[in-house]
Amino acid sequence: MRAFNAVINALFPNKCVSCGALINDGDYLCEYCFEMIEPVDLLKICTHCGLAKKNCQCKSRVFHFGGSIAPFENKGAAQQAMYRYKFKRTPSGAKFFAKEMAKAVRTVYNDIAFDGIVYVPMHPLKQLRRGFNQSQQLANELSKIFGLKVYDGLLSCKYRRKSQHNMPIKERFKNIKGMYITNYKITGKTVLLVDDIKTTGASFDECAKQLLLAGANNVYCVSGLITVAEKGKKKNGN
Ligand SMILES: [Zn+2]
Ligand SMILES: [Zn+2]
Repeated sequence: MRAFNAVINALFPNKCVSCGALINDGDYLCEYCFEMIEPVDLLKICTHCGLAKKNCQCKSRVFHFGGSIAPFENKGAAQQAMYRYKFKRTPSGAKFFAKEMAKAVRTVYNDIAFDGIVYVPMHPLKQLRRGFNQSQQLANELSKIFGLKVYDGLLSCKYRRKSQHNMPIKERFKNIKGMYITNYKITGKTVLLVDDIKTTGASFDECAKQLLLAGANNVYCVSGLITVAEKGKKKNGN
């Protein structure tokens, strides 16, 4: 077994999920990235809209979800880790993010009894090209951690949307209207909605709206990365 493991390790050496440096088995980050990564200070964000408390939009906008959290801000070493996971297809990235997302869920949503997990769907053609939907993978990892079912195929994505890069926040919410549909009812269920990155919250909001229409009692969101500062200034993601 030891020899077998040695061969596996030689063939698939364990790499830092952020920079790709070789690291010890069982670790996710090299020492440098571990120092550099910036966890979200959950005390400094509004856990309803997911923005920094000073940028909270709960008074000016009605969100369909009951909460939005993430372990990391959408920048630096964590952002690099997400790109590496999505575009270099590193499976350890899914495990790393899911583990950290689970910690945030346990901290903020600890008195919520979830019935299951839903993920933000990807357009079928896009998914075919990428080979996977990272939100679905993250949902599957979270399902293993929490022992909750994943509502597979509940949401689907109807249209390919225009790129949202540099789109003002209002436009993003408009651009995404009618994008998602539900395929069955989940009457009375409280669900955890999963995505890779939340920027303006437009995807989460539109999915949550559809889930409520499908009978969900409540929808709480978790993503790997979150933009907590300026409204819609960041590029990349939803
Ligand atoms: Zn590193
Ligand atoms: Zn808020």
